[in-house]
Amino acid sequence: MRRLTENLRNATQDSGVSRVWQAQLMVGLTLEDEGAWPEVKKRVRECFGVAKFFLAREFPQDLDMIKETLPGLLESHTFSSFQIETNRADKRFPMTSPEVNRDLGRFVEELTGARVDLSNPDLTIYLDIQTRGILLYFEEVPAHGGLPVGASGRVAVMLSGGIDSPVAAWHMMKRGCTASYIHFHSYPLVDRTSIEKAGELVQHLARHQRRSDLLLAPLAEIQKRIIVETPPSYRVLLYRRFMVRIAQGLAKQVGAKALITGESCGQVSSQTLENIAVVDDVATMPVLRPLIGLNKEEIVGMARGIGTFLISIQPDQDCCSLFVPKHPETRARLATVERLEEGLPVDEMVEEAIAGSVRELVPSPYQRLV
Ligand code: ATP
Ligand code: MG
Repeated sequence: MRRLTENLRNATQDSGVSRVWQAQLMVGLTLEDEGAWPEVKKRVRECFGVAKFFLAREFPQDLDMIKETLPGLLESHTFSSFQIETNRADKRFPMTSPEVNRDLGRFVEELTGARVDLSNPDLTIYLDIQTRGILLYFEEVPAHGGLPVGASGRVAVMLSGGIDSPVAAWHMMKRGCTASYIHFHSYPLVDRTSIEKAGELVQHLARHQRRSDLLLAPLAEIQKRIIVETPPSYRVLLYRRFMVRIAQGLAKQVGAKALITGESCGQVSSQTLENIAVVDDVATMPVLRPLIGLNKEEIVGMARGIGTFLISIQPDQDCCSLFVPKHPETRARLATVERLEEGLPVDEMVEEAIAGSVRELVPSPYQRLV
C-alpha cells in the first residue's frame, strides 16, 4: 500500500491533485477541482496495483448531510430504478451496511419515485464509509490490478523493437517489477532505425514507472565473427546465446534479477523448445517468458491496448535478420552449438560488447525531472 501510494503520488504530479493519502486498502487522491478528473483518470488507470477507482465526493460521517446534497447530485442522472451499495470500512460507524442501504434507499425512493432494483438497476449509488468520512460515487472505473511497480524487484527486458517484447515488459511491470530495457543493434552494419524504435517503445512504456533505463548493446562485431566462422543455419542461435550472455552482464550492472523475452512457443524457428533449451543453457539467471502460451493474435490485441503496436510495426533493420538463411535450424543440438563456439573467444567478445554498451535514462512523461 505504501508503494502504491508513492507511485500514485509520482504519477499524478502536476495534474491537479492536492493530496495523496493512504486509507484501508485504498488510496485517496484529493483533487483541486473536478476539472482535473480526465487527466487524473488517465494516469491512475495506468498505475499498476489499482484494481478499480472512482470519482467520489467526501462527506462527514453523517447521513443527514448526504441527504441534503444528494438531490442536487441526482439531477444529472436519469433513472427509473436504482440500488444503494454500501461498504463499511470503518466498523465503528453505528449503522450496518444493510441498514444504510435501507435508510438511504427509502429517501431516494421518496425523492425521485424511482424503484429499488438489486439485479439490474439503472443507477448504483455507492457509499464507502471510511474513518475520515463517507465517500459517495456513481461509477467504478476498472483498472489493471496487479502489483505496484517496484514491489517485485527489477527485471531486464530484452527489447527488440518487434510486437512481442514490449507486451512482455508490460506484463512484468503489471506484476510489480521495475523494468530496465536492453536492446541489441547491429549499427553500423545497418542503420539506426531499430535503436530509434526501441527508444520510442521505452518512452511509451516509461509512464508506468518513475524512470526507465535503456541499455543499447552493440552486436555488429560479434555478428561479423559468427558469419565468418560458423554455418548459416546456426547463426540466429549463436546470436541469441551471445545476447543472453551480454544481457546477463548488463542486468547485473543495473541490479536486475531476471531476463525477460517476448518469446511464444513455436512462433518462429528460434522459439522451438529445442532452441530455447540451447539458448537457455548459457543463462545463469532466470529467463522469463510471460507470453510463452499466447497466440500471435492475442499478443497483437494486447499490443494495441497497451499502445505499442503502431510503434512496433514501423519498418526497421533488425539485428537478427542480418545474414540469416531462409531455413534456420529448428532443432539445434547443444553439442553442435558448443563445438561451433569453441573456435570463438566467447568471454572476450562478451566483455567487449558489455563495455561498448550505452545507457540512456528515460523519465516518466508524468514526472518532473529531479
Ligand atoms: P518481438 O516481437 O519481441 O521482436 P519476435 O516474435 O520477433 O519477438 P524474435 O525476433 O525471435 O521474436 O525475438 C524473440 C525475443 O528475443 C524477443 O521477444 C526479444 O525479447 C528478444 N530479442 C530479439 N531481438 C532482440 C534485440 N535486437 N534486442 C533485444 N532483444 C531481442
Ligand atoms: Mg523480433
